[in-house]
Amino acid sequence: MRLEFTSTNGQSPCVNLREALLAGLAPDRGLYFLKQFPQLTAAEIASFASLPYHEIAFRVLSQYTDGIVEPDVLAAMCREAYDFVIPLEKVHDRVHIMRLDQGPTASFKDFAARMMARLMGRFLLEENRQLTILTATSGDTGAAVAHAFHNIPGFQVIVLFPNDEISLSQRKLMTVLKGNVRTVAIDGKFDDCQAMVKRAFADPSLGHLPLSSANSINIGRLLPQSVYYFYAASRLAKPGEPMVFSIPSGNFGDMMGSVVAKQMGLPVRKIIVPVNDNDAFPRFLATGVYEKVVPSRNSVSNAMNVGHPSNLARLVSVYGGQMDETGKINQMPNLETMRRDLFSSSISDDRTRETIREVWTKYELLLEAHGAVAWAGYQDWQAAEPMAGLPTAILETANPAKFPEEIERTIGFSPDVPPAMEAMNKLPEDYDRMGADYGIFRDYLLAKHAV
Ligand SMILES: *Cc1c(COP(=O)(O)O)cnc(C)c1O
Repeated sequence: MRLEFTSTNGQSPCVNLREALLAGLAPDRGLYFLKQFPQLTAAEIASFASLPYHEIAFRVLSQYTDGIVEPDVLAAMCREAYDFVIPLEKVHDRVHIMRLDQGPTASFKDFAARMMARLMGRFLLEENRQLTILTATSGDTGAAVAHAFHNIPGFQVIVLFPNDEISLSQRKLMTVLKGNVRTVAIDGKFDDCQAMVKRAFADPSLGHLPLSSANSINIGRLLPQSVYYFYAASRLAKPGEPMVFSIPSGNFGDMMGSVVAKQMGLPVRKIIVPVNDNDAFPRFLATGVYEKVVPSRNSVSNAMNVGHPSNLARLVSVYGGQMDETGKINQMPNLETMRRDLFSSSISDDRTRETIREVWTKYELLLEAHGAVAWAGYQDWQAAEPMAGLPTAILETANPAKFPEEIERTIGFSPDVPPAMEAMNKLPEDYDRMGADYGIFRDYLLAKHAV
């Protein structure tokens, strides 16, 4: 089967994985996605039980790279990219915390960025091209992308982050790298950063620059994020038994990984999509009316401060609808089916902090704010649709050590800092700063590319 990626806006030609990955956004400003997904058989999925993570990654991702990346090359990429542990900690009964925070920048974004850098690096080398990765971050993407692409020949990386919305440790993970990585603090919100990046991609006066995105709008970020759902099922579920996932969500790239896994054949009973105060999605699921949160609301789970999740356009397409990049719904998705498959609730900051305390007191389990939102969302689902006994993975998406001030305020002690982060915390920072002004940013990009 030849895989064709189409735009969610429906106005761009079909492309293969290589083209979709290098372009990022489709020419019609939609997002590349599949109408039909490659299928894994129940027997193939059952065989994952005895495989290490990197081999599961190879078997899932090779469904997409046929004829584009040779199998042995892909296998080596998976081995290199996934050389860290993925703990599944039992909490009670069959409920587990899946910690996706053991990569070099201590958030789940390492999973996607490390694979994408390897794939893109290979494509560039084959074509002898240069590329500038332009990305907006609400905290963790920038660090993961900057680390993944740092010192890879052919790449320049420019990361925009909202100056007042990220923690010091999050910032240092980007600003100490230097080399081919430039970080820019924007006096604005994450949404401003994302809007500036989107505008640069659509700006004809920058058409001659070799820009590409590494945000979760890039399909190359999304596909690797389907792998850990297969992995969790392979460790927690009996063959054929449906899983429950609770996924703390902002731009909805992570949760779309679970949707991709489900579309590929993984049995899933419920995808729980808890958000913070940015509650556009749970309101949409309840009412069928989509209203973006403008401006986006700040919260302790700062990597999820997204007023209009870009990846919703992809989710809507899976359920037969069409949403454009501004959030306008041109065709309604099937809400009934969405409600059957998904559950979503909004978790306040107070409740997030209470959850961190409660889980620590009750289970001696340390969660940071994003993982706590996932935990609280799972509790909301249990209250709404009680259903005990299913294999469940609640995702902890960042390491508590990234938010020492917040953890200290909430439970009175500082989390242990992983040695790699400690070493980075000591290096000197270097970054640029500007207002949320597109004109200034465009000139900055032109200057960075003038030789
Ligand atoms: C980015 C991020 C999220 C949200 O993931 P999306 O794919 O944007 O929904 C959740 N937690 C952490 C720690 C993150 O960095």
